[in-house]
Amino acid sequence: MNKLTWVEVSKNSLAKNIDQFKRMIGPEKKLCVCVKGNAYGHGVVEASKELLSAGVDWLGVNALYEARAIRQNGIKAPIYVLGYVGLDSLAEALKLDTRLVVYNKEALLRLNEEAEKLNLKARVHIKVETGNNRQGVNISDLENFVNEASSLKNIFIEGISSHFANIEDTTDHTYAKNQLRLFEEAIAIAESVGGPIPYKHFANSAATMLFNSTHFSMVRVGISAYGMWPSKETYASLLQKGINVPKLYPVLSWKARIAQIKKVDSGESIGYGCTYKTGRDSMIAIVPIGYYDGYDRKLSNKAYVLINGQRAPVRGRICMNIIMVDVTDIGGVELEGTVTLIGKDAEEEISAELFASWADTINYEVTTRINERIPRIYI
Ligand SMILES: *Cc1c(COP(=O)(O)O)cnc(C)c1O
Repeated sequence: MNKLTWVEVSKNSLAKNIDQFKRMIGPEKKLCVCVKGNAYGHGVVEASKELLSAGVDWLGVNALYEARAIRQNGIKAPIYVLGYVGLDSLAEALKLDTRLVVYNKEALLRLNEEAEKLNLKARVHIKVETGNNRQGVNISDLENFVNEASSLKNIFIEGISSHFANIEDTTDHTYAKNQLRLFEEAIAIAESVGGPIPYKHFANSAATMLFNSTHFSMVRVGISAYGMWPSKETYASLLQKGINVPKLYPVLSWKARIAQIKKVDSGESIGYGCTYKTGRDSMIAIVPIGYYDGYDRKLSNKAYVLINGQRAPVRGRICMNIIMVDVTDIGGVELEGTVTLIGKDAEEEISAELFASWADTINYEVTTRINERIPRIYI
């Protein structure tokens, strides 16, 4: 049975990206790849399996349901939960053998209690606030927090981490360097109170590529494992610094099939709100995907798709489950023929970045928004 829409993921490209990151950090350091957001849209379980066989050490998830899905599929690799886990879910987090980021005393106490019941140690990674003002313990409270954690019998401080606020949005890295300095201070404080901490980690994709000094004992790479650049600025900064610029291979394509091909006379309008009027006799192809699937409504009258290696402009508004595209100038268009929404077709390519520019957003949002229900096919 032909699928009407699907996402293709290239195992080969994924492996090439991972290989470059492994070489970048060297054999001593761990590579954690983030599989939150359905592995940035690539399918959390399938991506986790492929990443691990490509040599990734740890998986980073946002929430417990992702960890649950990974464990249910028999994956035993270390899982680090980057996001908040509710107090009532901490017992399950331990049973799933996850490492947790912590920054609330309530979580420490509850984890200690639950770990004692299970007769194990909860491995926690303390998140330090260095300038993102998102999750994290303020440095002024850190000594106190580490003291508390160290006093709890069933808590093991396995890691300390922080997160960059302004590294990919600019070529000026003053803010990032200041965060790095604060993180180093925080490590010194924490270790002087609680003893050595085995895992120190700070770097996302941009930091991993830009500054070796951010690698510590592990890096947390997301977007670039999937072959996408964190930003143009990151790419420009690498060029500017004369650093070896990695060649990233995008791994995801999104495709669909044509549901109808029809003649629309000159002067007729297309779609809701009659926002497009044909200026000539046209051939319009109906493609059965829409904003529900992650094809942003902002792409109305703006984007194009690829059919037979040529651009077919979107006409009229994006509907919930349907778009209309102009195939007047394209030969050999057939019912159930393949439409590329993101990816390559012959000489043409629609990158996640181009898609993002149409939707006034970033590549991260484009791929994570592709509806989870759409099958991911690893090739
Ligand atoms: C998502 C995330 C990352 C990865 O960021 P990329 O820019 O995708 O590499 C790293 N650390 C934390 C805490 C994150 O939430």
